[in-house]
Order: sequence, then C-alpha cells, then structure tokens
Amino acid sequence: MTALQYPASYYAATAHSQPDRPTLNADIETQVCVIGAGYTGLSTALHLAEQGLQVVVLEAGQVGYGASGRNGGQIVNSFSRDLDVIERQTSRQHAELLGRMAFEGGQIIRERVKQYNIQCDLKEGGLFAALNGKQLHELQHQKLLWQRYGYEQTQLLDAAAMREQVQSERYLGGLLDHGGGHIHPLNLALGEAAAVEQQGGVIYEHSAVIHIERGNPAVVHTQKGSVKADTVVIAGNAYLGQLIPELAAKSMPCGSQIITTAPLDEDTARALIPHDICIEDCNYLLDYYRLTADRRLLYGGGVIYGARDPADIMSLVRPKMLKTFPQLAQIDIEYAWTGNFLMTLSRLPQMGRLGENIYYSQGCSGHGVTFTHVAGRVLAEAIQGQYDRYDAFAQLKHYPFPGGRLFRVPFTALGAFYYDMRDKLGI
Ligand SMILES: Cc1cc2nc3c(=O)[nH]c(=O)nc-3n(C[C@H](O)[C@H](O)[C@H](O)COP(=O)(O)OP(=O)(O)OC[C@H]3O[C@@H](n4cnc5c(N)ncnc54)[C@H](O)[C@@H]3O)c2cc1C
Repeated sequence: MTALQYPASYYAATAHSQPDRPTLNADIETQVCVIGAGYTGLSTALHLAEQGLQVVVLEAGQVGYGASGRNGGQIVNSFSRDLDVIERQTSRQHAELLGRMAFEGGQIIRERVKQYNIQCDLKEGGLFAALNGKQLHELQHQKLLWQRYGYEQTQLLDAAAMREQVQSERYLGGLLDHGGGHIHPLNLALGEAAAVEQQGGVIYEHSAVIHIERGNPAVVHTQKGSVKADTVVIAGNAYLGQLIPELAAKSMPCGSQIITTAPLDEDTARALIPHDICIEDCNYLLDYYRLTADRRLLYGGGVIYGARDPADIMSLVRPKMLKTFPQLAQIDIEYAWTGNFLMTLSRLPQMGRLGENIYYSQGCSGHGVTFTHVAGRVLAEAIQGQYDRYDAFAQLKHYPFPGGRLFRVPFTALGAFYYDMRDKLGI
C-alpha cells in the first residue's frame, strides 16, 4: 500500500519541519486512543494529555493530512447552521450551552498559539460578504442573534464600508467579525501535534485503523499493531470511509477546492484586502479567500458531493476568483488542491458515543476550524466524567441522507442546485 502524503498544496510547500513519527508496529496499551490527527483528534488529545491522561493518536497519513491541513484557514465563529436553527431543535438550557460554545473555538486556537508558541501566521478579522439584499438581511439577523448569546464583536458594513475592506464590486454589504481571523492551517495542526507530544502524548503516523474490537477495554487494530484502550475517540471525519458504517450512514464526504496565486506585490495585495482579514460570501455554495503571509491570494470555492477528486481544479476555481477580482486576470496560479469535509443533513456537527467507551465527533459541514477545537475540549470533559456540555451536542437529532448509499449524492446535489439557484436569484 502506498503511504498517504500531503497533496501538493501551498500549505505543504510552506509547512514547518516536523519530527519523523513512528508507525505502530506493536501491541500496546493506553488510557485513550484517538483515531485521526486532524484538529478534532489533536484537540482532544491535547486537552487530555494536559490533564495527565495517557493518550495515543493513530493517523492514517501524516498529522494534518485531512481537511485540517488543507482548508481555507478561516477562523469562523458559530456553526455551519446558526443558533436559531439549534434553538428550534432543542431545549432552552441546551441552546444556551451550545450558544456559548459557538464562540469558544477561536479563543482556544488563540490560547494554543500563545501557550505553545505556534507559528501559524495568525491574523485577526473575518468578514461575511453579502451578494444580495436577502443575504444582507440575514447578516443583520445574525448580528442580533449572536448578541443574544453575548457576542458583541460584529459590525455591519454598507457597500461603501465594504470597499474599504475588499476591493471587489460584488458586495452590497457585510458583517465584519473582529473575533474571526485566519491561520496557516497545516502549521497550526503541526504545532498542536508538537504540543500533544510535549505533554506526553504519542502520535503514530501511517497507521490506519482497520478494525475496532468493541468492548471494555476496546482494541484498535492497524495493519501492523494494536492499541488496547479504556476509551477510544473517533476523529477521522471525511476520511474515515466505511470503518464505522453507522457514522458513514449519517454523513456525506464533500470536496472543496482551493487555488493560490503567485505572490502579489505589496501594493496589489494591500489594495485587494487592505486590513488582511479573511472573507467568505453568504452563498450556499460559498467562495472564501484571504491573503497568505507571503501575499498570495488563497481562494476557495465550490463543493463536490461525494468527494470525487476533480480533474481540473484550476478551471473550477479560477473563474470564481476572477468574478470577484477581475483585476487578477494576468496573475499566475501556483497551487491548486482539493480536500474533503463531512456534511450532515442538518449541517450541525455530530457528537456521540458507540457503546460506553467509544466517542466520536464529526460533520462540521464546512465550518470546522473553530468547532473542532471546542469538540476536543468537550470530548475530553466527557471522558473525564463531566457530561453537561457533551450532552448538549449528543442530544441533537441527526438523520441519514435521503436516497441511501446509491442516491444520496444526486439527491443532495439536487438540493444544493436549488439553494444555489435561490442565491443567484437573491430570493
Ligand atoms: C478545502 C477545505 C476548506 C475548508 N475551509 C475551512 C475554513 O476556512 N474554515 C473552517 O472553519 N472550516 C473549513 N473547512 C472545514 C475544516 O477544515 C474541517 O471541518 C476540519 O478541519 C475537520 O477536522 P477533523 O479533525 O474533524 O478532520 P480531518 O482534518 O479531516 O482529520 C481527520 C484525520 O483522520 C485521519 N483518519 C481517517 N480515517 C482514519 C483511520 N481509519 N485511521 C487513522 N486515521 C484516520 C485522516 O487521515 C485525517 O488526518 C474546510 C475544509 C476543506 C476540505
């Protein structure tokens, strides 16, 4: 079997060096075994290791091989569906707990960066950009909704104020989130992995889990070894495949693609995004972009349901970039890659337990940089016997995608087509 390697992304090309990590080739024991070294797995492992628990992380590729090492790097507050959807689904008490957690992930990232001196190009500020009146109205609603949960860091912008943030003619207005921001996602993951190891955790790479023997303790098997553990945490998200059929049944891997330009000269870069914030538009199939530390425009957009790798990423994403910034028509594209995130039907994350001692968290549905960091803390709390915040997530209802394994991709694409048309018509 060929070893899984990072895609040829801007992030892989600018990743900090990391130690050679071992592959598991023995039968070992630990208190907690975490499957997957993305943010969910690393965040859980770090919270536990900091509390003095013995943690082993098993990663199929390398640290940050999945979405955590490939994403847009945008620190976006709240969940993929907003808090009013949660309010309609759950009790007031749970909605309160979930509402407060919606703004915690960004703080955890900043604490990690500071505490462990993680060099990941952290910049402050994020902007939601409205393409039509309906989206602007929704942003006004979002501001009030977030205020109800005590979050006061947003500011509505009209079209003129938008021009001061982003040099594009496309937007009617926006919502600036001073508590948003952006990072080099792979370097954040690598920094968090180093922190896990500094706290005594052990990470095995190229150690794909092929079977979990449920029980107490559970035994997690790889091709060449096994880990006997009191508790297991499944954090494989869109890369988990069919390892746990009941988790695969209620989620769908989706691909998103990113391109990165050649470095821009300082004047061009500063003219595009003068305050170096990150931006995402409010479409259902949204575009997201920002500058990198070496002044490239990093632009992502589009969704491929079922997560097939597209043949030509550039021809998918470059036209979107030029629609936003026609002034970049002559600029070369130097990197193009794809990554998979996990969608749920409600677009709310799924957290829960299989039996007594196998926890999982998955399905951030496209906005996971912040939530995964909260998820790690909440899972660590539950593993240590503190369940109130875990319960708030675990009681959210989740359903399988309609159409079963055969038709769920075309059905979902049809649904997305409907929302995409509504975005285009602004209705
Ligand atoms: C292109 C793209 C752009 C995005 N942009 C943003 C953004 O700007 N802002 C935002 O908030 N969110 C964004 N997201 C979503 C965000 O990146 C994810 O929600 C988040 O990184 C998920 O983290 P995770 O740890 O749960 O999963 P992953 O990072 O995917 O990690 C899962 C890990 O588990 C490993 N694994 C899987 N199966 C096994 C197994 N059997 N054995 C061992 N290891 C296994 C995988 O190799 C992988 O490393 C984006 C996603 C993509 C794909």
